[in-house]
Amino acid sequence: MLDELSRIGRDPATNGYVRDAWSPADEELREWFRQEAARRGLGLHDDRNGNLWAWWGDPDREPGVVTGSHLDSVRQGGAFDGPLGVVSAFHALDLLKGKGFTPSRPIGVACFTDEEGARFGVPCMGSRLLTGVLDPGRARGLTDDDGATMAEVLRAAGRRPDELGRDDETRARIGVFVELHVEQGRGLADLDEPVGVASAIWPHGRWRFDFHGEANHAGTTRLEDRDDPMLDYARAVLQAREAAEKHGIVATFGKVRVSPNNANAVPGLVSAWLDARGGAEQAVRALVEELSDGRSVSEESWTPVVDFEVPLRDRLAAAVGSALADVRAAGRRPAPVLPTGAGHDAGILAAAGVPAAMLFVRNHTGVSHSPKEHAEADDCAHGVTALAGVLEELAR
Ligand SMILES: [Zn+2]
Repeated sequence: MLDELSRIGRDPATNGYVRDAWSPADEELREWFRQEAARRGLGLHDDRNGNLWAWWGDPDREPGVVTGSHLDSVRQGGAFDGPLGVVSAFHALDLLKGKGFTPSRPIGVACFTDEEGARFGVPCMGSRLLTGVLDPGRARGLTDDDGATMAEVLRAAGRRPDELGRDDETRARIGVFVELHVEQGRGLADLDEPVGVASAIWPHGRWRFDFHGEANHAGTTRLEDRDDPMLDYARAVLQAREAAEKHGIVATFGKVRVSPNNANAVPGLVSAWLDARGGAEQAVRALVEELSDGRSVSEESWTPVVDFEVPLRDRLAAAVGSALADVRAAGRRPAPVLPTGAGHDAGILAAAGVPAAMLFVRNHTGVSHSPKEHAEADDCAHGVTALAGVLEELAR
């Protein structure tokens, strides 16, 4: 299945993926999901916010055990972030069906829309809208790099933007959500373990900085006459790095927009996006406050710390331990439990009170959001075995 997906949205120049929400590549991925659901005789539900659900059993009779992830990508992303969770979900269902398992409650495969926020700047769009933590009016008004609003983009994709927003009916079908994801760090590689369980997601957010100046000629404007916003932007980048070290967190300016963006002009406006995360919310807030001083800053998203439910987490760690007893040096002992600095739909659902948990699959280099992101085939297979064991535990 990963091979089938590997050609969709790939930039041949870099081998990185560009799979913006509601782009032609995204539509191809959504169609692939529909076909995989149909091939297995699963009931398909395309909800008001664009999330896709494939159901084995009737979730209106009883809330189900849901697994899955997302198929969109950051720009120039890797092949595993998102798709590994969706592919593993279908694969785990196949394993369970193959061994004649009859679930006591429905099992669902989810594909959340626009998880990365690559196009409109707000990550986990599908789960934020579903749970009502993001105002649909704000979502409709967000613009992409071409200046198109999300409402316009959705209409062009044949959808109804007026239907966006909190969806209690769909949410009520999720009894518990388990997201499998490629690890975006080297925690499991260091522990020599193929699969782990998430303890927590660090608090994280995105902020837009607008540095205003005066656009002018790069040759004829004397240095003392310039009002160059690029200088303050450069100071902010260095300051973010220093503050991150001081507070023991991470902070990144990874996206910048320069206007007019001419090699021979002093810019008139520099807009830059800060991503900051860390184990302690206070430290992240302190960094943003220090950087905001005297500058024009707006918060585009904020996600408080998510501590996954301990009993569910421990139950999953034990289930993974038994499922992988033959392949781990640790035998049947529970799988390791570790935190992550990356945001996920499972975190949004957990914060909204839905029982949720995550499994991570080892990524030897720890590189993610890059074409170099990688998980070994054996580890992916262990992830599927572990996920099938977890679904069996939750739906037996
Ligand atoms: Zn992801």
